[in-house]
Amino acid sequence: MTEAKKIVVIGGGFAGLWAVRQLKRAPVEITLIDRRNHHLFQPLLYQVATAGLAAPSIAAPLRHIVRDQRNVTVHMGEVQGIDTTARRVTLPDRQISYDYLLVASGATHAYFGHDQWEQFAPGLKTLDDAFLIRRRVLCAFEQAEAATSAAERDACLTFAVIGAGPTGAELSGTLAEIARHTLTRDFRHIDTRKARILLIEAGPRVLAAFTDTLAGKAHRQLERLGVEVHTGKPVTEIGADFLQFGDQRIAARTILWAAGVAASPLGKQLGTGLDRAGRVRVQPDLSLAAHPEVFVAGDLASIDQDGKPVPGVAPAAKQMGARVAKNILARIAGNKTTPFHYTDFGALATIGRHSAIAQLPNLRFSGLFAWWFWLALHIYFLIGFRSRLIVLINWAWAYFTYARGARIILGNEVGKDHGREKESSA
Ligand SMILES: Cc1cc2nc3c(=O)[nH]c(=O)nc-3n(C[C@H](O)[C@H](O)[C@H](O)COP(=O)(O)OP(=O)(O)OC[C@H]3O[C@@H](n4cnc5c(N)ncnc54)[C@H](O)[C@@H]3O)c2cc1C
Repeated sequence: MTEAKKIVVIGGGFAGLWAVRQLKRAPVEITLIDRRNHHLFQPLLYQVATAGLAAPSIAAPLRHIVRDQRNVTVHMGEVQGIDTTARRVTLPDRQISYDYLLVASGATHAYFGHDQWEQFAPGLKTLDDAFLIRRRVLCAFEQAEAATSAAERDACLTFAVIGAGPTGAELSGTLAEIARHTLTRDFRHIDTRKARILLIEAGPRVLAAFTDTLAGKAHRQLERLGVEVHTGKPVTEIGADFLQFGDQRIAARTILWAAGVAASPLGKQLGTGLDRAGRVRVQPDLSLAAHPEVFVAGDLASIDQDGKPVPGVAPAAKQMGARVAKNILARIAGNKTTPFHYTDFGALATIGRHSAIAQLPNLRFSGLFAWWFWLALHIYFLIGFRSRLIVLINWAWAYFTYARGARIILGNEVGKDHGREKESSA
């Protein structure tokens, strides 16, 4: 009897997990490595950052997800090195050998050469980021309530979101709703409705991936919610209490970064070509030309289809993961691999609690119906029954009451500097 082939998967995100699931019945030994113990549904991360949902609603332990899949061992640890010649990956405390490797370590924030901005303007990628943002947002209202001058109060009540893609639009729209509806009766010395929410975009319009018409509708909806939208204005400076864009310098205590992503640094270890965002250029079957036993999938993979790059979105990552699994099995069986083909099901973005835009391959729509469609899809795609049920109940409640249940501030007391420290809380 031949020994089962060892497959190492780095990353339990959409690409890695979908590859593992596709291999459910295969006679292989899979080691799934992730530096976190959970799979995260990033599309709803902004809900945790804005106190709408608690973390367990959008994340589930990887061990729990694959508990019935006997051919998988989960290892929690950070991969630091990949040796494609010796066919092993290095973690702080061990090395793990493979016959086949899938690198699906995703992407991280990019500050376009201004890494010093990260401390003032956190991005949203992990649960830790979401907790930090939630803390800064909630602390800003507390600081405004305690402010001793009008200038300080105004700075505390000014929130700037940089980058008007789906995450920036969702964050700013929700912040506006929190200020205009959720918190209005909670404070005695401030009128939260006077909070300024700025959405700043360097490009000519919001939601660049959508058609002009849909993006225009989203822009108007954001303004109706009370968001000040500034397009065509790159941010040139960010400090602890301010940001600068165009000829404006704005005092703002809460600045959030939703502008750029860069590929996971693990891509550099593969010794092959990278694109401008640091993503790994892969063969049509998602393997590396020099190492057909190594595959890359998800946000870390750079591949074109019909002359355009396959986008860094969850459906593309899932489809790549599944394709890699099938191609690994083909290689093991000595068969030819199949090129990856991306099926684009369209894009959605939500702006506020009952407005969204939907751009499907043959259909475009917006408004309340698009919002219900968005809601149904996101609940359907959440992993695990518990998450779905909890999210559904939370949203039903929030829809009718504007309540946001996860508004507990954890960590140190609120003081002058609160919300600025890089810390995470549960
Ligand atoms: C805030 C936000 C909102 C989004 N909204 C949408 C949306 O509405 N619709 C949509 O389609 N897409 C959305 N996306 C994009 C989508 O989430 C990504 O395209 C998708 O997650 C990519 O999957 P992946 O498996 O490549 O990477 P990820 O899902 O990011 O998974 C990568 C995994 O690798 C692990 N990892 C990284 N480095 C290491 C290491 N060195 N060692 C061990 N483990 C490591 C990470 O912990 C992580 O679990 C959003 C992304 C974000 C950040």
